[in-house]
Amino acid sequence: MIEYRNLRVALLGAGSVGAQVADQLLTHRDELAARIGAGIELVGVAVRDVDAPRDTVFPRELLTTDAESLILGSDIVVELMGGLEPARTLILQALNSGADVITANKALLATHGPELFEVAEQVGAQLYYEAAVGGAIPIIRPLRDSLAGDRVERILGIVNGTTNFSLDLMDTRGETMEHALAIATELGYAEADPTADIGGYDAAQKAGILASLAFHTLVPADAVYREGITEVTLEQVVAARKAGYVVKLLAICERLTDPVTGIEGVSARVHPALIPDTHPLAAVHGANNAVFVEAEAAGPLMFYGAGAGGIQTASAVLGDVVSAARRHVVGGPGVAESTHADLPVLPMTAVTTRYQITLVVVDEPGVLAGIAALFQNHGVSVETVQQSVASRDAAGQPEASDAATLVIGTHAASEADLAATVAALTTSSVVHSVTSVLRVEGL
Ligand code: NAP
Repeated sequence: MIEYRNLRVALLGAGSVGAQVADQLLTHRDELAARIGAGIELVGVAVRDVDAPRDTVFPRELLTTDAESLILGSDIVVELMGGLEPARTLILQALNSGADVITANKALLATHGPELFEVAEQVGAQLYYEAAVGGAIPIIRPLRDSLAGDRVERILGIVNGTTNFSLDLMDTRGETMEHALAIATELGYAEADPTADIGGYDAAQKAGILASLAFHTLVPADAVYREGITEVTLEQVVAARKAGYVVKLLAICERLTDPVTGIEGVSARVHPALIPDTHPLAAVHGANNAVFVEAEAAGPLMFYGAGAGGIQTASAVLGDVVSAARRHVVGGPGVAESTHADLPVLPMTAVTTRYQITLVVVDEPGVLAGIAALFQNHGVSVETVQQSVASRDAAGQPEASDAATLVIGTHAASEADLAATVAALTTSSVVHSVTSVLRVEGL
């Protein structure tokens, strides 16, 4: 058997993920070599500060601040620095030098993905990014390869651990959003500045990546409708549980037809939503992630596991290292991104879904019929109505004695019709307040 030369791997970044990747590459060197059919040589690790204290196995002599020199002559470059620059420039340099690149950087892919994939294709190099969505969970390969012969209809994903951890604490321990977030920060599940997570930006970047792969259509992150979890109240979470639902921040990617224009396209959105407590995603607790895929032939599939964490994410990165290395040894076309379908990305107004609206109304005969008629006049069909007389205000105090709370569940309605209905409700003389509007998914 011909022995293949050692493959040179350059690592950019030795933080939570990078340090674990370096350690695993060295610790499992022999086993990885046996799987690849060639040895892996970690030629260096680029960091900002070579003197910073690090609790790692790999030799400190590998550390350097000169990422550009490290890239030159490498077969595989693993980018785990994060951020847009210098990550983008270094990846372009690596691709142009003929190296395959592995990254976990969803922010970079969401912003500069098309440019990076185009350069990779031009130079015949590969860009792998299994760790960019869902941490350890294999979801990129299944969408790109395993489901390449099927037609993905819809994806419902819990793709942000910080928000799932916080909403789960509200649900299971009755914590307020503020307190749940403080606990998440204390336990290291939330960044010092949690805006990217709680504002839904991180999930929107991942939704764009998933939708692009699933629908063979470029869906940039800024085309993803986004709402964070900051407006979700403990009252909503408690009321949801009583009604048989759980509140989750969902990334929803789907094929749909615009009800007004008839245009067939795709949509991607991130927002808090109610899901039935019997849905598999309702059982995703803590900082875990899960992606629920509905495909035409395969039916429903669920991918579940650790969505973050240094060693967990390193697992996905190392899988990419083995794939890239095997391609060097045995050849083959490698993976290919496909945007051939090029479907229109439809706006949020084209989305139809169910809603649950909570209202405090005047407790008089005929009010319920009037409210139902208001929904109907705006094209929204009411499916369920629950009424309780002892309404409480936001501070938990009983509302005026003439008040009753209505919880109205709708059939599927368009966002535009629902928005018009809510606007009409807020100005109605029999409505004291609209206290909650939540979309319902997964039915
Ligand atoms: P991190 O802990 O902040 O580590 C970043 C590393 O990159 C550090 O070693 C840092 O050097 C180095 N670095 C940053 N800027 C640099 C520059 N200009 N030149 C040279 N080195 C530089 O980040 P991480 O949590 O490991 O995340 C890495 C990537 O993985 C990100 O794209 C992130 O989104 C993605 N990801 C992370 C997770 C997770 O659980 N952490 C999960 C999925 C995906 P110093 O050590 O000297 O500061």
